[in-house]
Amino acid sequence: MLPLIAMCDRWDIGGLSTNAHGQTLGPTIFIYDGHPGGVGITRIGFRAFETLVADARRLIAECPCASGCPSCVQSPKCGNLNEPLHKAGAREVLERMLTRNN
Ligand SMILES: [Zn+2]
Repeated sequence: MLPLIAMCDRWDIGGLSTNAHGQTLGPTIFIYDGHPGGVGITRIGFRAFETLVADARRLIAECPCASGCPSCVQSPKCGNLNEPLHKAGAREVLERMLTRNN
C-alpha cells in the first residue's frame, strides 16, 4: 500500500520482517527506502502509518483468494519466495496494530 500513498514504485521500497530482532528485542517489520540515503518515501509512510495499516488490512480482507496471492500478501521481491507469508496471520497482525493504536 505504501507505493499508493507515497506515489512511488513498489521497487523503490523494501521490507523485512522477523520474529525477533536484536535491536528491537521483539518481532519487527522494517520498511525501508530503496534509494541510497533515502528520498523520503518511508517518512511519508511513517506520517500516514494508520492509513497504511488500515488500507493493507482492508486489501487483505477483501481479496477473494483463500490463502494469499500476489494481489494481497505475496511480493515479487520476497527473498524467501513468499514461502513464509500467511494471509490470515498478516490480517491478524494488522488488526492488532490498528487496535493498539486506537
Ligand atoms: Zn489474495
